[in-house]
Amino acid sequence: MSTPQPTPTDGVPAIRIRGLHKSYGSNEVLKGIDFHVDPGQVVCVIGPSGSGKSTLLRCVNRLEEPDSGEVLVEGIDICDPETDLDAVRARIGMVFQGFNLFGHMTVLKNLVVAQRQVLKRSKAEAEEIARANLAKVGLAEKADAMPSQLSGGQQQRVAIARALSMNPDMMLFDEPTSALDPELVGDVLQVMRDLADEGMTMMVVTHEMGFAREVGDKLVFMDGGVIVEEGDPVEVLSNPQHERTQLFLSKVL
Ligand code: ADP
Ligand code: MG
Repeated sequence: MSTPQPTPTDGVPAIRIRGLHKSYGSNEVLKGIDFHVDPGQVVCVIGPSGSGKSTLLRCVNRLEEPDSGEVLVEGIDICDPETDLDAVRARIGMVFQGFNLFGHMTVLKNLVVAQRQVLKRSKAEAEEIARANLAKVGLAEKADAMPSQLSGGQQQRVAIARALSMNPDMMLFDEPTSALDPELVGDVLQVMRDLADEGMTMMVVTHEMGFAREVGDKLVFMDGGVIVEEGDPVEVLSNPQHERTQLFLSKVL
């Protein structure tokens, strides 16, 4: 079987970040971030543009190289030179604002390639898993369509199905609905909600405060490269403790 080895997760956070710093040249973007995501938890990250949310997310699977601090994924230090980074990355599904589908491949092929290349699944097995995940996001009938024939919302659901086809232990979402026309946002959020209900571990950068409130187990507010405030989403949204959180929420709510 091509399924990745299960990892012991008893008591080990899915993601743990300690003292994370990251600069681009003289621009210090992450100024010491500490937080964790427990298995099965949905953590939503909000904050103004430029506060470092995407950089933080991209440090989790080392798409960005941390300058200092620690990033542990299921207890594994992703910056340890001994770590098999590809194996860790295979456990993390990522969905971006842009859908990043391969435009020259059918929807089905989009879901099959990485399964074949990375997980070495047979064509039949990969296609079966792909079809099951397309059905899960409500797009079973689009298997043979080209991405350009789909709406943005459908493309984003395909991107989610593609990530799920790798059987990730956790999913990272970076503003997955920000590029969508408003009427297409709901279907994507519903797919994410279903995933959360199934117990998927999720870290979601979003401006959808309703989603954060209803689906999130924890809400993290970032500003200027630090976590200003975090806690129960209902608490943080209705009773923010810090002036910067209050100011941000007064603009977006
Ligand atoms: P957010 O996602 O909260 O909007 P980002 O993490 O994208 O914030 O960006 C935080 C800061 O880092 C911004 O000032 C941005 O210009 C800068 N930045 C992000 N990526 C890069 C990069 N690859 N090179 C240089 N600066 C970057
Ligand atoms: Mg961003």
